[in-house]
Order: sequence, then C-alpha cells, then structure tokens
Amino acid sequence: MRAHEAGALHGDLGTRGPAWLRTPDDVNELVPQLWPRTVRRGADGDLQVGGLSVRDLAAEYGTPAYLLDEDDLRARCRDFAAAFAGADVYYAGKSFLCKAVVRVIDEEGLFLDVCSGGELAVALAAGFPAARIGFHGNNKSHAELGRAVRAGVGRIIVDSFAEIERLTEIAAATGTRPAVLLRVTVGVEAHTHEFIATAHEDQKFGFSLAGGAAFEAATRILDGGALDLRGLHSHIGSQIFDTSGFEVAARRVLELQAQIRDARGVELPELDLGGGFGIAYTTQDDPSSPGDLAKRINKIVDAECELASLRRPRLSVEPGRAVVGPAVFTLYEVGTVKDVDGIRTYVSVDGGMSDNIRTALYDASYSATVAGRASSAEALLARVVGKHCESGDIVVKDEFLPADVQPGDLLAVPGTGAYCRSMASNYNHVPRPPVVAVRDGAARVIVRRETEDDLLALDVG
Ligand SMILES: *Cc1c(COP(=O)(O)O)cnc(C)c1O
Repeated sequence: MRAHEAGALHGDLGTRGPAWLRTPDDVNELVPQLWPRTVRRGADGDLQVGGLSVRDLAAEYGTPAYLLDEDDLRARCRDFAAAFAGADVYYAGKSFLCKAVVRVIDEEGLFLDVCSGGELAVALAAGFPAARIGFHGNNKSHAELGRAVRAGVGRIIVDSFAEIERLTEIAAATGTRPAVLLRVTVGVEAHTHEFIATAHEDQKFGFSLAGGAAFEAATRILDGGALDLRGLHSHIGSQIFDTSGFEVAARRVLELQAQIRDARGVELPELDLGGGFGIAYTTQDDPSSPGDLAKRINKIVDAECELASLRRPRLSVEPGRAVVGPAVFTLYEVGTVKDVDGIRTYVSVDGGMSDNIRTALYDASYSATVAGRASSAEALLARVVGKHCESGDIVVKDEFLPADVQPGDLLAVPGTGAYCRSMASNYNHVPRPPVVAVRDGAARVIVRRETEDDLLALDVG
C-alpha cells in the first residue's frame, strides 16, 4: 500500500490534516471495519446496503437519512449474546432507541437499559418484556420510578440516597420489593486508549466508593429490607479500546462486595461492569471483537473474584455504541463546495450538527465517502460541514474525498448509529432525518422524517 503523508501531496501545512490521515490509494475504497457488513460498491460505483443502491434510497426517502443495515445490527446483537454467554447483555438504549430497534433487541435475546421515562415508554410501547429492562439515571423522578416499578422493570440501578428513599416509598405503596443494583463510582475514567484511575470520583453519577457512600448505601438498603439488592454496578466511560480500565474497576467494585460480605454476611449475586466498548470511526480505530472483549472481561472477573475470595456473581455488560453504532451510516447530499485557497476545501451537506452533534460536542472523528458514484479523480483533503448557522457545525473534520466532489453528490458518513439520531436537535428548525432500515433488498422507514408541520405543531403561541 502506498501511504503518503497527506502533507507530501499538499505542501501547505493547513491542508495536511492530522498526521495519521493518509491519502488513500483509491478514494472509492470502503475500509471494512467502518461500514455495516452488507455495504459494498455496486457495478456503477454507487454504495449499496442490504442490496439497495443509495441512489434509489435517496430518491425514495430523501436526504439526510440514517440508513440502518438490519442484518448488521442483528449480527452484532448475536455476536454479543454468544460472546457473553452465561452473562446478560443489556443494550444501552440511550445510544439509539425506537420501537423497531427495541423489537430487534428483544428478538435477538438481549436485555435493555433505559435511562428516562421517555426511553421506558418506547421500550414498553414496543412490547419489550419489562422484566428484561434495567432503569438507569442519576435523577429519576418519583413518577418515573413509580411507573417503572408498576410496569415490573427487572432492575433499577439506584444512584443516590434520595432515590433509595423514593423507591422505598414506592415499594411500600405498591406492595413490591424492587430489585436494585447500586451504581458505584470507582474513580476510573476510561476513554479510548487511556484510562485514569484516581482515588476521588468527581462526577454526578453513582455512590462514591472511596468516600464510603457506596458502602453506606448498601448498608441502608440491606437494613431497610424494602429493596432487593442484587449487586453492584460500575460504568467507567465510553469508546474504550483498552480493557485495563475494567480490571481496576472490577477490583475496586469486588473489594466493596467483599466488604459487604464481611460486614453483613451476604454475597450479592450480580455484577454489572457497564458498557463503553469502542468502535471504529476512522481507519485508525481498531476495536476488539465481542469475543475478545468477553474473554478478557471474564478473565478479569475470575481473577478479581479469586483475589477477593468471592463466588463469581452473574455478570452483565451494557454495550450501546458497539451494538448500533457501526450498523448505520448517514446519507447526505452535497450542496456547496468551497475551496479556501491553500487552507482547505469545505464540502457542505444538507444536515450537520442537528443530526450529528458528536463532532462539535466531543471533537469526535468521522470518515466519509462519496456514495452515489465512484470517481477516478485524485484525493483532496476536505472538511465536511453542515448547513447550520454555527461555524463549529462540522461533521467530518478531515477526510480525503475525490477532487471532483460536487453539488448533488451523495456523501455517506459511517458509524452514526449511536448518539446521532438520539442526540439530534431541531437547531435552526431543521427537521430531524428519518431512520430507514434496509434488509434483503427491502427498505422500511422505522422513524419518519420530521416535517415543518411537526415543528409548528409544538409552537402553540
Ligand atoms: C452510556 C452508558 C452505557 C453505554 O455506553 P456505550 O459507550 O454506548 O457502550 C452503558 N451503561 C451506562 C450506565 C451508560 O451510562
């Protein structure tokens, strides 16, 4: 493979992009880890997903649109379920939730995490068995908790002393004994290739381990007897590639588990290590397979249980991004191409920060390719931007696109299944795009496009 530094082609510093970005040998190439598994280039050079051309999909459903490869999503669910056999896999619904996806999660045998009354409503509306739902959140209201308990939600991950009180009241009022996990903050913050382990826990979620609040909370729940304390929970971050953060987290949580056993004579039967497994957004990202993740995490749990002389609790994990993120790409249409002399080329698409806030919010990196055709033009370093009145409205910071990219071209951005539609906004009153599921040559809208009537319907002044 010919691997030029971008700068070798573009002498000016400003057109170089990040050092890792290499000019592609072929701007039409699809790097497999970035794309849903049924995506390929058709005979005309157009991208195809589930056997359908993006040109036809754009004509039928418009742009921008999130295109979901349903086979890919199902395969990811199955891969996680198989890899974590003997454990429970909770899909983190906050990454993307709609009724069709809830049904897929159900059919593929996963459990489901929700973190608001709204997410719970979607799960229940789709008929997801409440017993397989976990309910998260650092500030669940009395009404939300009451609804969850009455619906028979399988477990509630308690996050504060106030919540213990609220749930205790609800248990009494409903004559139930809700199953709960205790969310523990362990002082491990994991992100991508690093994790930081500190003694303090400076964040809003959970009970502090180091400060003693976690032990105190466990004691109150066990003393109170109104709630069924099933286990401890830890979630250390997102987009994690290195499992050593899980090792520190598991050790700290299981030390608390041993402390509870020593003080109270109970070994809690469950342990949840959260989610956060990384996916590929660019060719630089090399995520682990669910099989590798499961192997490493199981080994960590075994070793840490042995260290603390504990029976192995039943494990659960909570992947969101790694289940749905890679199964979706966003299809845009290019509207303008602007060359800022010697600095860079701006390619504007018909969406932007309202359908993908992650670049602006987290400085996230994405990739893109011209999707409606193949090109034999040389590579040009471009920045893909949106149509919003905000200069930080960037979709893809740096990407090589064919130099003949032009208005009317379709552009596809992969890896947008997680935290894009779920975080979408109406900024500039741009209607939110639809989600179109594609499978075996058939497409169906699972979330329809928002309309101007929808926008005006809320505006009752
Ligand atoms: C967000 C979240 C997850 C999922 O994180 P991903 O990065 O999407 O895997 C899992 N558990 C908890 C508690 C979360 O807050």
